[in-house]
Amino acid sequence: MNMDVLVSLSKRRGFVFQSSEIYGGTGSCWDYGPLGVELKNNIKRVWWRDFVQTRADMVGIDASILMHPTVWKASGHLDHFTDPMVDCRECKHRFRADHVDALPWVHYCPATKGNKFTIPAGEPCGHCGQRRTLCPNCGKGDLTAPRQFNLMFKTFMGPVEEDAAVTYLRPETAQAMFVNFDNVLQSMRLKLPFGIAQAGRSFRNEITPGNFIFRTREFEQMEIEYFVNPNDRVDGRPADEYWHDRWIEDCMAWFRRYGLSPDNLRLREHERDELAHYAKRTVDIEYKFPIGWSELMGIANRTDFDLKQHSKWSGKSLTYFDDERKEHVVPFVVEPAAGVDRALLAFMADAYREEEVRGEKRVVLKFHPELAPIKIAVLPLLKKRDDIVRTAHTIRAELARHWRVVYDDTAAIGRLYRRQDEVGTPYCVTVDVQTVGDSERGETGDFRVTIRDRDSMEQARVPIAELGAVFRELLEGAAWSQVSARYPAPPVKASGP
Ligand code: ATP
Repeated sequence: MNMDVLVSLSKRRGFVFQSSEIYGGTGSCWDYGPLGVELKNNIKRVWWRDFVQTRADMVGIDASILMHPTVWKASGHLDHFTDPMVDCRECKHRFRADHVDALPWVHYCPATKGNKFTIPAGEPCGHCGQRRTLCPNCGKGDLTAPRQFNLMFKTFMGPVEEDAAVTYLRPETAQAMFVNFDNVLQSMRLKLPFGIAQAGRSFRNEITPGNFIFRTREFEQMEIEYFVNPNDRVDGRPADEYWHDRWIEDCMAWFRRYGLSPDNLRLREHERDELAHYAKRTVDIEYKFPIGWSELMGIANRTDFDLKQHSKWSGKSLTYFDDERKEHVVPFVVEPAAGVDRALLAFMADAYREEEVRGEKRVVLKFHPELAPIKIAVLPLLKKRDDIVRTAHTIRAELARHWRVVYDDTAAIGRLYRRQDEVGTPYCVTVDVQTVGDSERGETGDFRVTIRDRDSMEQARVPIAELGAVFRELLEGAAWSQVSARYPAPPVKASGP
């Protein structure tokens, strides 16, 4: 699967557009279109439902993006949130030093009279055996020594652009959970262990953004800070270690549940020397993206680092009173941190299929129904028949009270089905002549419609009055075969599957 296929489908069908495209685009910024925003909202909604709404040990917040600048001093971001950057002295191209060897490189080979080759990342030249030393982009310039570059976006609070007014766009949502720890604890009367969740925008001035929505400078995160009592033991193990493993399992299960294939998911343990300054242990969930295995989310044991730092810099106590042991403790925290955009890219890549149906190519996004941007499309078989069109509009309006439902009559039925397949709509409803009857011939309709399942392409004939109940069952997870067994197949196939 090639990233270009997803980029072009995203643009053509309204998932993701290049930002400010009519002005030539803004580097690495993307806009979610009508279907993209639905998909993204569904991902966030399902995540919130599964990890906050249904759990007694979780609460949420929605904090401001601009925070007190001292937050970033205390958290270590001002001093440590840097990436090493190198520049080419010739073409001036800029790279993240630790990404240079992961790029294909341009080489003017001395063994072939200086012919130009582009050599795959990490490999030596097949002719002269040399490895890359120069700029991978132009193949001519030396690279500068690495310099540290802070990834936070700086801005000014208020009208005066002076040092005292400097603040930053948050590079992660996590710090708001630490800063609000005591507010949440006191207002909600919580007992350890408990977690605070937040979904929202973060900003990083990435040196080498790219690969579509995989790495951008403005993105959304879904983060949880799960606080545990470090003196507790669960199943004979320290509570922070137990909960770290639990969150790794739960997050993996969550991605699988909504459609990511187990073969495309793996865990990667951070080596000692790559651990962040605050972390005791970090495990990434990696996904086999079209660009190869890369981080989808990280799950870190941040210990008591953040609460202690904010307590030190603010002068406020950020502790929890352990009733049993009659002592104040600084909780440890486990942080499952996922990127919404990366999750969306993974769900899309995994759902994409090209199938052959009766000698024709069918492109289908096999989204989990909970994630699908459109749940149902209502299609009139004949758009010249007023009664058919009217009935279809009425059905759409009724179903749209519960789900995102669209009406489309801009092509023949076979093509309408393909269009819905391509954006992952799990069910179509077709209103035909049998539904409404033919008053001129004195025939009454059967008030039934054909519903069609995206994945099996099978059809069933369902009374209009039962549509709401049938879709509730299907969209809440009932198998198509189980539901369709109660209804006959349509007398005349509406048209092609
Ligand atoms: P990377 O190593 O890819 O730069 P990271 O380890 O710095 O990522 P975290 O700080 O752990 O990322 O952030 C948590 C999650 O936020 C990541 O797993 C990813 O899904 C998402 N994320 C981080 N940076 C970006 C970005 N620039 N664009 C899109 N998503 C991002």
